[in-house]
Amino acid sequence: MGDVFKFLNLPRDPGAKFEAEFRRSKFIEIYAPLPKSDAADQAGRCLSCGNPYCEWECPVHNYIPNWLKLVQEGKLFEAAEMSHKTNSLPEICGRVCPQDRLCEGACTLNQGGFGAVTIGSVEKYITDEAFKQGWRPDMSQVVKTDKQVAIIGAGPAGLAAADILVRNGVKPVVFDRYEEIGGLLTFGIPEFKLEKEVIRTRRAIMEDMGVEFRLNTEIGRDVDFDTLLKDYDAVFMGMGAYQYLKGGFPGENLPGVIEALPFLVNNIRQRMDTLPEGEAHLSMAGKQVVVLGGGDTAMDCNRTSIRQGAAKVTCAYRRDEANMPGSKREVQNAKEEGVEFLWNRQPVEIVQRGSKLGVKLVTTQLGEPDAKGRRAPVVVAGSEEIIECDHVIVAFGFQVQPESWFAKHGISTDERGRTVARERQTYKHQTSNPKVFAGGDQVRGADLVVRAVFEGRQAAEGMLAYLGVW
Ligand code: FAD
Ligand code: SF4
Repeated sequence: MGDVFKFLNLPRDPGAKFEAEFRRSKFIEIYAPLPKSDAADQAGRCLSCGNPYCEWECPVHNYIPNWLKLVQEGKLFEAAEMSHKTNSLPEICGRVCPQDRLCEGACTLNQGGFGAVTIGSVEKYITDEAFKQGWRPDMSQVVKTDKQVAIIGAGPAGLAAADILVRNGVKPVVFDRYEEIGGLLTFGIPEFKLEKEVIRTRRAIMEDMGVEFRLNTEIGRDVDFDTLLKDYDAVFMGMGAYQYLKGGFPGENLPGVIEALPFLVNNIRQRMDTLPEGEAHLSMAGKQVVVLGGGDTAMDCNRTSIRQGAAKVTCAYRRDEANMPGSKREVQNAKEEGVEFLWNRQPVEIVQRGSKLGVKLVTTQLGEPDAKGRRAPVVVAGSEEIIECDHVIVAFGFQVQPESWFAKHGISTDERGRTVARERQTYKHQTSNPKVFAGGDQVRGADLVVRAVFEGRQAAEGMLAYLGVW
């Protein structure tokens, strides 16, 4: 038995982080890979709790203490095998999950004030290192069937569904309107959280497993939904949530006010050298920027602006720091890189002031908790202030936009446009059209990568049962 009190002598260590000054101009991941010895040391801090709360809080219910033990014992390939039993994209979740709200937040060491085991860093280490050393998913026992499933969307939900289907002998054909797989992993999340090479590696692995990608293909434009229904045994939709949420105040359409996702995608494409002809690069170099919002998208806009050389980046959010939706780790990273936060500030108008913009903000206080326990911001009378800037980036989030073909094919949506496809029914994640399944942001509304992965996997199990493979 190992030293169960290792955590007393060995602090939590998420891996070396580049200095903020260095990061401020670099679009590269900010955490260096964990060396083998550090991964084993961190894994060795795990208490192997009888009832591992980390597993319960992890949305895919990873067998965390089990793979930590394998890492400690130096059994890397076995750890990779076990990690893939519950998660189709462990190297990606290890990088982008808000661990402080999920697995690491629930770690007994964290609850006891000793600093959580750095579960995310070890999860990333396992797959990165196993791939480097030549490990590949074992497909030798797969018995191929004659079934084929069309998947719309190569985001985390679609990729996870494809992973489970192909491992069970069903051929997945994944359609995406973009030229690369990943959905928001590629065209949303910037490289300082997730380098694009990680997704390219995963693509190569999936293609070797037998997943077929048909990219630059939009369903509803290049290929009809009817064709998919006719040519495939089932269809999975993981099309995400892309409809902009507006603030609903005057001035949102002024020149210089930019929507968050087009800004991030424009910059990612610029670095990938795939900006569409005629689209100018959106640069904040030398500009004063105000970012409105408090989620992951807002943090990514803040930190992208900093890296472009913005003169000043101010982020305004209508609740306090403790009640913001984004990952605490990313807020800390943004602060280190020089973003200034204005908590409890709500925008009420954007005005033109000569060549500049003015963002009118009012101060808020948190009111009583609502039915879900969230405290609504209440405006403090007479608290208006104006912040001058060159650009405002609006990052209020996204909602789902139902597709035009849904009604014709009997696919139901709820009052917020989300596709109805519940986990607890005969065939998990089946929509109101029996041949069609759905998961991820399209079903949940804008959420997290790991939850999209979980739903893609669940839906694949639903399809396997529906197709009689299971
Ligand atoms: P998506 O990733 O949106 O993928 C949907 C795919 O479907 C897209 O590739 C799209 O092109 C394709 N598609 C849609 N319609 C069609 C069609 N008709 N034909 C063909 N293809 C189609 N989550 C985290 O956990 N951690 C983070 O740090 C984090 N940061 C984020 C930062 C930003 C800027 C944003 C916007 C989101 C972030 N998220 C983060 C949320 C996370 O990215 C999403 O929850 C997740 O990607 C949802 O996965 P999905 O597969 O449901 O959809
Ligand atoms: Fe933690 Fe996310 Fe990995 Fe689950 S998938 S163990 S929540 S980092």
